[in-house]
Amino acid sequence: MTTTSPLMPTYPPPAVTFVRGEGSRLWDDEGNEYLDFLSGLAVTGLGHSHPAVAAALAEQSQVLLHTSNLFGTVPGPEVASTLDRLLGGGGQVFFTNSGAEANECAIKLARKWGGRGKHVVVSALGSFHGRTLATLHATGQPQKWEAFQPLPEGFRHVAWNDLAALEGVLDPSVAAVLLEPVQGEGGVNPATAEYFAGVRELCDERGILFMVDEVQTGLGRTGEWFGHQHFGVVPDVVTMAKELGNGVPIGACWAKADVAAAFQAGDHATTYGGQPLAAAAARAVLATMEAEDVPVRATKAGATLSAALASDPRVAEVRGLGLLVAAQLVDGLDAGAVAKAALARGLVVNAVTPTALRLAPSLLVTDDEIAEACDRLAAAFSDVEASA
Ligand SMILES: *Cc1c(COP(=O)(O)O)cnc(C)c1O
Repeated sequence: MTTTSPLMPTYPPPAVTFVRGEGSRLWDDEGNEYLDFLSGLAVTGLGHSHPAVAAALAEQSQVLLHTSNLFGTVPGPEVASTLDRLLGGGGQVFFTNSGAEANECAIKLARKWGGRGKHVVVSALGSFHGRTLATLHATGQPQKWEAFQPLPEGFRHVAWNDLAALEGVLDPSVAAVLLEPVQGEGGVNPATAEYFAGVRELCDERGILFMVDEVQTGLGRTGEWFGHQHFGVVPDVVTMAKELGNGVPIGACWAKADVAAAFQAGDHATTYGGQPLAAAAARAVLATMEAEDVPVRATKAGATLSAALASDPRVAEVRGLGLLVAAQLVDGLDAGAVAKAALARGLVVNAVTPTALRLAPSLLVTDDEIAEACDRLAAAFSDVEASA
C-alpha cells in the first residue's frame, strides 16, 4: 500500500524534514544537524533566523500586516528607494510575491511599452524564468513546455552567450531581451562580459529593452549587488526575488522611469505585493546586507569556497560568480547520488545538473563553515565511490 500525501505529487517524496535553522545550520525532526549550502535555493542569504529579520517580522505583525495597494503602505516605498539606489537610480519598482511574478510584470511591461506588434521577448536556451505559463515559455527548456501546450505566444529562444544568434532573431516584433547574468537553474553558467555588453549595444541600436532576471543572482549573491554590475551594463528592467525577503515571499520588478511610464493605473496589480509584513522583512534584509557589505563578503567567501572545491580530485571544474557556485564532477560521479550522500553526511547541496552540484551558502558563511562543508562533501564523495 502506498501512503497518500496531502500534497500534490509535483516534488519527489522528501528525504528529510527540517524543523529549525540558525545561521548556516539546519536541524531535522530527528535532531540531526546540517550545514545548509543551498539556502533554500539561494533565498536565505543572511542565514536562518536572522535576528534583524525576526525582529522586523515580530514588530510589523503587531502593527499592521495588510491593507491592499488601494492605500499607501509603509515600508514598501522605502524598500523601493533602497533598491533603486542599489541599481544606480532613475527607476521605479513594482512589488510581487515571487520571482515568476516579477518576470510576469517585466513581460507585461515590455508588451505595454512595445505596443501591438512589438511584443516578442527573446530569452536564452538553458535559462529559467519561472513556472507560470508565460514565464514557462520564457524559460529556455523545451522539455518543460511539452505537457502544457499551448503556451502564450510571443517568446523566442537563442543559444546562450552567442551574440550572433541573438542578432539573427531580432526583428521589429521584438520588444525585449530577457537574460540571467548567471544561468542558475540551467547549471550555474555565467554570461561573458562581452555578451552582456554586446546585448546592451544591440538593444540600443534596435530600440529593444534589455531585461535582466536577477531573481537568483541579485542582492550580493555574485559579489556585486546585482549580477549585471560585473559586466558594466545598465539594463532597462531588472527583476529580483529570492534573497529579498530572506525567506519571506517578496519579489520586485524595477524599470527605468521612462519604461515604467508605459504602465498606467489599472494596467497591472497585485493583492499582496509589497504588503507591510513582506516589505518590513525586505527593509531589514537590505539594511543588514548594507551593514554587512554582503557583496564583498560573497566575493571573499566565494573565492575560498571555489578554491577548496577545486582542490578535491573528484571535482573537475568550478564555475560561477561569488557565492553562486557549481562543482562539475569528474566522469562517472553522479551528482544526484553525491547530493544524497552529502545530506546523509550533514551537508545540504543540490544536483543542479546530473553531473554538477550547486552551492549557494549564506552570504555570511564563515571560513570554518566552508572548511567543514568541504570535509563533509569529501566524505560524501568517498561514500559514493565506495558504493560504486
Ligand atoms: C527561482 C527563479 C525564478 C522563479 O522564482 P519563483 O519565486 O520560484 O517564482 C525566476 N528566475 C530565476 C533566475 C530563478 O532562479
